[in-house]
Amino acid sequence: MKITCWNCKKEYELDAAAVDAALKALDASKLGFVDVPCPHCEKENRTKRAEFETAKLAFEEAAKKAAEEAAKKAAAAAEPELKGLAARKAKEKERAALDKKKGHKG
Ligand SMILES: [Zn+2]
Repeated sequence: MKITCWNCKKEYELDAAAVDAALKALDASKLGFVDVPCPHCEKENRTKRAEFETAKLAFEEAAKKAAEEAAKKAAAAAEPELKGLAARKAKEKERAALDKKKGHKG
């Protein structure tokens, strides 16, 4: 999540772990906000719980999408192999059928 520092106006990013840590700190403190120090000027930026919760949901959504994307890629990578296998089996069947025919004829 992005926080814009009230003091130096620079933006800084909190990753999923930092958001989790902030939510844990919020649970412990029972307050509705947590002070996040700015990495540029070290001033505290008071940030509301709702902002962390929104960010956590966004991170979870992104993680889910990434996992789905990875699963799709894995499936796409496995597909030609499966198709190849199916094609080989179909050919084997065809050949077996031909052999049978030949057997009948011959
Ligand atoms: Zn700052």
